[in-house]
Formats: sequence, C-alpha cells, structure tokens
Amino acid sequence: MITALLTVIILAALAGVATVATRGAPREIALVDRIDALLPQTQCRRCTFEGCRPYAEAIAQGAADINQCPPGGERTAQALASLMGVAPKPVGKEYGVVPDYPAVAFIKEESCIGCTKCIQACPVDAIVGASRYMHTVIAADCTGCELCIPPCPVDCIVMQPAPAR
Ligand code: SF4
Ligand code: SF4
Ligand code: SF4
Repeated sequence: MITALLTVIILAALAGVATVATRGAPREIALVDRIDALLPQTQCRRCTFEGCRPYAEAIAQGAADINQCPPGGERTAQALASLMGVAPKPVGKEYGVVPDYPAVAFIKEESCIGCTKCIQACPVDAIVGASRYMHTVIAADCTGCELCIPPCPVDCIVMQPAPAR
C-alpha cells in the first residue's frame, strides 16, 4: 500500500516537472525572438557573435551584455535593457563605431579582379559576380556590415551613403 502511494506521488512529481519544462521552452524561444526583433539585422558581427540571432541567444542566456551592438546604438541598447529588466548603459566603444547615416558598399568595378572573396564574406548575398569577372553590390540588399572590405585584395570596395529608399 505504502509502495503504491509512493509510486503515485513520484509519478505526479515527475509530471509536474515535465509540465514546467514544457512551458519553459516556449518562453525562452519567445524571449530570443523578442530580443532579435530589437536588433538591426546588419549581421556585422561587431557584437563578437556570428550575427544578430546568435547575439540574441547569448543575451537570453545571460552570456552577453545589452550594449554590444554599435549599429543599433543607444536606442537598441536602451530597448534591450528595458526588455531584460536591467539598467541601460552606453554601447561599448570596444565594439567599434558605425557611420551615423545608412551606408552601403560600392565596388569600383574597373579595379575588381573577380576573385569572389567579397561574395564569400557577405552574410546576406548582396554581391553578384562570377569568377574573373567584375562584381557589383545590390545596394537594396546591402546591410552596410563592411565584412566584404577586408578580404578584397585590391581595396576596390568602399562604403558610401545608401541611396534613398
Ligand atoms: S553588432 Fe548588432 S547588427 Fe551587428 S551582428 Fe551584432 S547584433 Fe547584429
Ligand atoms: S555587400 Fe558588403 S557591406 Fe553590404 S552586406 Fe554584403 S558584406 Fe556587408
Ligand atoms: S573581393 Fe574585391 S577584387 Fe575580389 S571580387 Fe570582390 S570586389 Fe572584386
């Protein structure tokens, strides 16, 4: 009798834990989504993560601070602080600076040697071109992340103000 009673109690406790775990997972996913929605989706990696979503996941897990996104600036840092219920703080200078206007990459096509390194570096497929042919940036798709600039062996990529949309 006592054994049966204990079995019932243990099963009830395990069911309770499972219910809490099941409820907890969607809550965490929702938090990541809400954090990610506040980020500018530049995918520039200045926050030290591989993109906006990984940074959002790190914030949700308590593994990153709310002030690591230069493209988002003070507005994003404040929104993140508010969402996470922590004190706001300025964006850390160690994460770099960005222009205070929207910018896109531009390839000086006469200098391009068609090495494709910029295509490989672009996180949003905003560059078109074929091997040994000139490449060009699709300005409407460029987030201004600047990740294509360092790999270019002939320094023919520059940033310029984004065209009006
Ligand atoms: S610094 Fe900001 S915009 Fe850049 S990848 Fe990180 S979260 Fe995204
Ligand atoms: S073209 Fe360059 S600056 Fe624009 S999104 Fe791609 S890598 Fe970033
Ligand atoms: S990395 Fe520079 S040289 Fe190579 S394809 Fe891109 S723009 Fe052209």
